Amino acid sequence: MQAAHSSGAAAANIRQSDPLLSVRDISARFGGIVALDGVSFDVFPGQIAGLIGPNGAGKTTLFNCLSRLYTPNSGDVIFEGRSILKAPRHAIPDMGIGRTFQNVALFDSMTVTNNIMVGGHCRTRGDFLTNALRLPLSRQEDEALHERARELIEFMDLVQFANWPAGGLPFPIRKRVELARALASRPKLLLLDEPAAGLNHEEIDVLKGQIRKVRDTQDVTVLLVEHHMSLVMSVSDKVVAIDFGRKIADGSPAEVQRDPEVIRAYLGTS
Ligand code: ATP
Repeated sequence: MQAAHSSGAAAANIRQSDPLLSVRDISARFGGIVALDGVSFDVFPGQIAGLIGPNGAGKTTLFNCLSRLYTPNSGDVIFEGRSILKAPRHAIPDMGIGRTFQNVALFDSMTVTNNIMVGGHCRTRGDFLTNALRLPLSRQEDEALHERARELIEFMDLVQFANWPAGGLPFPIRKRVELARALASRPKLLLLDEPAAGLNHEEIDVLKGQIRKVRDTQDVTVLLVEHHMSLVMSVSDKVVAIDFGRKIADGSPAEVQRDPEVIRAYLGTS
């Protein structure tokens, strides 16, 4: 079952194209613990897909497989038609997969602008010598990174914080900086790890608009892991639910919400 519900202009492509991401029969074990057990699903270009599941279901493990922090024991992850498992971990941003983390990870002493510029560095070609000698290639790339950071600062409504060190900023602003940094490398697929964690209701409403705006204007497909059900169900075109490492539902938010397995996983009863 694929996404039956979608919104936004980009979502019009969903059924006409090949999947951007195919998770194929992924299993991952930690010693005797089976964290993922044969999980498969597709995400199509332009979709916002939500990945849900109770604590310990395997969501973070799956995300870590997608960003190559972990290598699954079996199965494959196909991105734009090729396996990412053959690529080294450091090549993942360059392939077009960006991510944010549950615990916002910024360079505290660096300004917001510089933090965002760091996110674009994987796209630069200058080597150590080019950078050290400030050769023309290095200067051009630096200017392009700066320009992209300026665009994203406007886009994420961070203008007033551009020159502030990231360390002193309130948590919701730090989360926005992290999102801007993930966009700096112009990813095709953006993995958001619990973007609503630590935010209040109003901030989650703002976040919802930002996720849609990212998808609609930055040509980005989004996969988010999230516990905040009303955010996932309102922002996603499709939702995948896992429990004890196995996929239990995959469909539109409405379909997944009424799926008896999902109700049982969350409430312990159908
Ligand atoms: P949460 O919503 O609480 O973040 P999750 O759905 O992200 O949970 P995972 O963190 O992927 O779940 O964990 C899945 C299972 O794998 C759990 O049983 C967890 O204890 C186990 N696990 C995860 N990482 C490791 C690890 N590094 N070593 C051993 N076991 C692990």
